[in-house]
Amino acid sequence: MNWPSNSNGVLTPEQIIELNRRFESSDALLGFDVSDDFVQFNQKDDMFTRAFWDDTIKSKDTDAFFSSYRMEAAPRRGEGFNQKDFALRNAAWAISDIFSNRGNDIGEREGFQAAIKNDTPVAADQITVDDPAAESAEIKKLAKLFGADLVGITEVDQRFHYSHRVDTRDFTEVPNALPEGVTHVIVMGHAMDVDLVDTYPSALAGVSTGMEYSHEAAIVVQLATYIRNLGFEAIASMNDTALVIPYAIKAGLGEYGRNQMVLTPEFGPRIRFSKIFTNLPLTADTPQPLGIKQYCENCTKCAKACPPKALPFGEPTVKAENQSTLAHVRKWSADCEKCFGYWAKLKTDCAICMRVCPFTHKRSWMDHLWFALATSRFRQLALWLDARRGLPVRLKPGRWWDRLRNHR
Ligand code: SF4
Ligand code: SF4
Repeated sequence: MNWPSNSNGVLTPEQIIELNRRFESSDALLGFDVSDDFVQFNQKDDMFTRAFWDDTIKSKDTDAFFSSYRMEAAPRRGEGFNQKDFALRNAAWAISDIFSNRGNDIGEREGFQAAIKNDTPVAADQITVDDPAAESAEIKKLAKLFGADLVGITEVDQRFHYSHRVDTRDFTEVPNALPEGVTHVIVMGHAMDVDLVDTYPSALAGVSTGMEYSHEAAIVVQLATYIRNLGFEAIASMNDTALVIPYAIKAGLGEYGRNQMVLTPEFGPRIRFSKIFTNLPLTADTPQPLGIKQYCENCTKCAKACPPKALPFGEPTVKAENQSTLAHVRKWSADCEKCFGYWAKLKTDCAICMRVCPFTHKRSWMDHLWFALATSRFRQLALWLDARRGLPVRLKPGRWWDRLRNHR
């Protein structure tokens, strides 16, 4: 479906129903049950955005959380949270920050509250694409050449685009429209460093997040520039413009888990995603569920390990805990207020629910054997084996630094 003409980015109820019918079979594969009274998510209600304008969320802790990224409030409270840990985390974010800060004076925080601005024009001459499947295969290889770990392609599905984005100067709503004629989304996965993830919760662990935001900023800009040089539109996007989780699943990169993350066969939930919206003729991938979500139905390891108890234990539901949850979709949903409240106390991101997930580690042949069991009809045996294994031990941040000094 082309981006609707004259669209300001907001779908009418009739268009929602039309898209629900159009994507009925792929929604079933996604495990997302989108109801006909669905409304697009307004980015103003995103938890991070609320932390700037919503007085029920803003606090000394949230102020300190954000200022710690500029070393203005980096607490020194032991291993994993000392000045070197915060310094390394902030350094890891540096490239992403260059993009997200360059539009501050016009209220466009690129990659988060606005798409990344085109630094190059669309070439006047357009190449001829006779075979969209071959073009798709080539684009995937080029994405990997630039550094992406996973790549999938799907059609534009405007249901998962923000109804509005925000102007970060005053947090007023701004239309969230893309150029007319955009048809496909290239979704890329960026795997996080497993040893750093093993140190969650810590400021040191946040290095694994910052590094991938910086990598993805560079990779989406490079690939989008290539496509624009071929004569096609290419909008480089990180967390902005649309919800990346449904897109990653629609592009066949993984399944939706209880911890609200995409669980990929290769890296489990230990991955971040970026996307490029384009009118380059491409073919869409089809999600091929392996049964990871079925494993989640019987596992509650992440929910048990979550310190503020923000994750659900029961079945997927349409219930929205608060305005930061995507409503009218049957799925597992976290209480984002509880989750972000914990992040603010830590002064850094938390991903304990990623660290403890049994799909996160694929180091040894035993991990690979466990994965084969977990995605087969023997998943109960995999659950039993994982229960015997217990929670993975957190790697002490001090030990990570020792390893760096002695072994790397
Ligand atoms: S810890 Fe268990 S329930 Fe949670 S996402 Fe991983 S497999 Fe699913
Ligand atoms: S990130 Fe941390 S606080 Fe948030 S849901 Fe996961 S474990 Fe809970």
